[in-house]
Amino acid sequence: MEYEAVIGLEIHAQLRTATKIFCGCSTTFGARPNTQVCPVCLGLPGAMPVLNERAVDYGIRAALALGCSVQPISIFARKNYFYPDLPKGYQISQYEQPLATDGRVECESNGEQSAVRIVRVHLEEDAGKSLHEGVQESNRFTHVDFNRSGVPLIEIVTDPDLRSPEAAAVFFGHLRSILRAIDVNNGNMEEGSLRCDANVSIRPAGATELGVKVEIKNINSFRFLRRAIQFEFKRQVETVCAGRRIVQETRLWDTALEETSSMRNKEEAHDYRYFPEPDLLPLCVSREWIENVRSSLPELPEQRRRRFIEQYGIPEYDAGVLTQSTSLADFFEGATKVCNNPKAASNWVMGEVMRKLKVLGVGIEGLGVTPGSLGALIRLVDVGKVSGSAAKQVFERIQRSGESPEEAVKAAGLTQMEDSAELEALVQSAIEEQDEAVASYQGGKTETLGFLVGQVMRRTGGKANPQRVREILRRLLD
Ligand code: ADP
Ligand code: ZN
Ligand code: MG
Repeated sequence: MEYEAVIGLEIHAQLRTATKIFCGCSTTFGARPNTQVCPVCLGLPGAMPVLNERAVDYGIRAALALGCSVQPISIFARKNYFYPDLPKGYQISQYEQPLATDGRVECESNGEQSAVRIVRVHLEEDAGKSLHEGVQESNRFTHVDFNRSGVPLIEIVTDPDLRSPEAAAVFFGHLRSILRAIDVNNGNMEEGSLRCDANVSIRPAGATELGVKVEIKNINSFRFLRRAIQFEFKRQVETVCAGRRIVQETRLWDTALEETSSMRNKEEAHDYRYFPEPDLLPLCVSREWIENVRSSLPELPEQRRRRFIEQYGIPEYDAGVLTQSTSLADFFEGATKVCNNPKAASNWVMGEVMRKLKVLGVGIEGLGVTPGSLGALIRLVDVGKVSGSAAKQVFERIQRSGESPEEAVKAAGLTQMEDSAELEALVQSAIEEQDEAVASYQGGKTETLGFLVGQVMRRTGGKANPQRVREILRRLLD
């Protein structure tokens, strides 16, 4: 029997507020442990939470970008459980009446358009962080850092609409681009600012009923998400094929062993004993507030992707890559404005620019080349001032020196050879030296021409236009 995977995600995203959700403590990442705490986020008796309006604003922003309806009234609730990094003994979250419900996210993966429904988006506080000392067998201490306690989060819950590990990873990536584009989350998965739980079940392909689900907790990379779901799918299929049942449970992904292992089953599952938080009033969001936020939303990645295809005529693939981040898309548009050659700009951004960013380990703001500068360089290539290969050297130079493309071309002596006599002489001397290749070309092996073009290009230090070289070679040899 063939089985299909059924996947729903629960995503936790840290909101980019400067202060925590119920107190004024800083949310800055990486501070010395327990330096950003107060009676409220330490859960000391008698401390009263005060809701951060900014966190609500960001929550609304995210909810609207995910196509949700923001509820006029939502209720904070206590989710009770014991854990060392949860000093109050409960987490303030939203339960029966969340901030927003019923959204929908369109997402394109492998040329296929699909939609994932969003069940709810709710606000909650993060817990502290436990730091285990040493390796498991020998560790003797666990330290607790409460700097993260009370940092505002939204939890986004999807319907079980995803059907493969790849689709889940693509969707999570798309969600990340949306949250970054609207500036509510920094997308930093290593720091835990964005993480997800994957719910996975299997069913015979084509069936409509849902199978028993297993939840895999706290995944913080796209690769882990894909691998964990792959593993879990296989494990469940093998279990069922061996005549055993899937039990509802929570599992953890072990990044070293590359497998999931059981953390707790349904019987051990927590009863969170939710009840309304008595220290906070119901959260009322006016229609005006919602509409204000709605009108301040920027163009979202999916809209932008479609516009790029339409307006610039670039391939779908390019448009998808370029719109993964707002700053990359802005860079592309800035360069295109100057050179009026969208496909060239797209090639440059997806090629040289992204390669460079990877090498430097910086975002596009740290590249040292402005979009205007790249656009000007592309124009120099298009009008024949610089050859394509020399342009790469020019790019390197601008990147390092901050010169304008014109200055860099002059300084490096990379102006394309325009003098045909000089070029023809170089071609001639190459022909004389490469008699074997010439004979082979004239004997009918036309692919040899590429080799000869390369020989001439080397003599010119990459400064000739290869198209011109090819023409001259043909004229002299044919
Ligand atoms: P719970 O009550 O256990 O929290 P929910 O119905 O609230 O379960 O769903 C939690 C998450 O699990 C959602 O993302 C949902 O899409 C997903 N989910 C629910 N049932 C299944 C299933 N049978 N297979 C895969 N995912 C599921
Ligand atoms: Zn505090
Ligand atoms: Mg649930």
